[in-house]
Amino acid sequence: MEVRKITVIGTGYVGLVSGTCFAEIGHEVTCCDINEEKISLLRQGNMPIYEPGLKELVHKNVSEKRLYFTSNIAKAIQAADIIYIAVGTPMSQTGEADLTFVKQVAKTIGENLNGYKVIVTKSTVPVGTGRLVASLIRTHSQSSQPFDIVSNPEFLREGVAIQDTMNMERAIIGASSEKAFQIIAEVHKPFNTKIVQTSVETAEMIKYAANAFLATKLSFINDIANICERVGADVTKVSEGIGLDKRIGHQFLQAGVGFGGSCFPKDTAALHHIAKTYGYDFKLIDAVIETNFNQRVFFVEKVEAALGSLQGKIISVLGLSFKPNTDDMRYAPSLDVIPLLREKGAIVKAYDPIAIEEAKKHIGYQCTYFEDLYETIENADACVILTDWSEIKELDLVKVKSLLRKPIIIDGRNLFDLNTMHEHDFMYVSIGRPVVR
Ligand code: NAD
Repeated sequence: MEVRKITVIGTGYVGLVSGTCFAEIGHEVTCCDINEEKISLLRQGNMPIYEPGLKELVHKNVSEKRLYFTSNIAKAIQAADIIYIAVGTPMSQTGEADLTFVKQVAKTIGENLNGYKVIVTKSTVPVGTGRLVASLIRTHSQSSQPFDIVSNPEFLREGVAIQDTMNMERAIIGASSEKAFQIIAEVHKPFNTKIVQTSVETAEMIKYAANAFLATKLSFINDIANICERVGADVTKVSEGIGLDKRIGHQFLQAGVGFGGSCFPKDTAALHHIAKTYGYDFKLIDAVIETNFNQRVFFVEKVEAALGSLQGKIISVLGLSFKPNTDDMRYAPSLDVIPLLREKGAIVKAYDPIAIEEAKKHIGYQCTYFEDLYETIENADACVILTDWSEIKELDLVKVKSLLRKPIIIDGRNLFDLNTMHEHDFMYVSIGRPVVR
């Protein structure tokens, strides 16, 4: 394998993990960011995000001199053979992907182009962004230096991001030239993964199609769960029963309080917007988005129904991050559920093992935060489960019962067996399963 000089622009969840993994397979990687605080933390050996195994891998590759951090983006661009764009593409007011950061980076690349480079977009971007990046680079480049554009979307999952990258299931490489395709395919060789060669536009579309499909599976099973509740069926068994069909599969068929995170909500909204822009009425994706929001509302209604009224009631919310093993709070169910509980008069005590600092930035002081699981539960009128952290799955139910004012648990993640909850004499309300009273 030829060792490449790779610069990753945007040192967030994707850029930091990808850059570290590229270093781990032997490339010389510089991760850069406009956020100087992030870079300075990394240079001191501290991680700006929580991701299992990341700190150790960063330290290893820094000490072996394959991984560097800088806020001097111009210099990092000039030194690179390959530039990865991994900046955020957040949801704008209209649902459209906001390309401000991508455009800024394209301009900076143009201004610093000093020889042939492959410019790879890893950020999730609407179809046509590769062309836009190329045109911005050309506009801002003084000389007519050659370059190629590649779309190489990212599929890692937060919480298992290192594992996902080191054992990636596939790499989608949509290149503007065969030469650029070969370079990026070669970079991926040590990952020993299946490579799918496409056009730039097709690669951009694959990322949205993948996330929209997974989001559709989740909204589908949540709708089935809502019907299960009405007909007296158990959605966990329905999932097991249908998931055994290989064409369907078990993954993404766990009913719950609706999806969150930095990708599904924003990417489904962006796909809706892309379809609309091109004159297509994508009804299915609209329903997926609506079902997902309704799932939060139905959940709060369940909490209210279990307690009679929420006015003045103390609710212990367990889990704030959008899923376990991450501190990422973007579009987490807790961001909808806690304000809805408060609107109904509840007083909220909240627990998360990792995400409290992030949560404060999003929810502020709408709740009291606790670092101890059982202190959160003490004297509450009910427990509400929003994230399936392992410590929440392993709750000591006897202790919980002794600490709660009333033995009521409303579980948005279906963590407990119905018989167990019956034996412990809880009122247990979950998703798509009969209520235990
Ligand atoms: P993030 O917000 O964690 O990180 C983005 C980083 O880019 C930030 O550190 C920010 O300071 C930096 N940045 C912004 N403008 C910059 C500029 N002009 N120059 C240098 N740095 C700049 O975002 P993320 O979660 O890593 O996501 C990045 C992209 O990857 C998004 O398009 C996202 O949709 C996509 N993606 C994310 C995930 C995920 O699980 N987080 C998975 C797959 C794809």
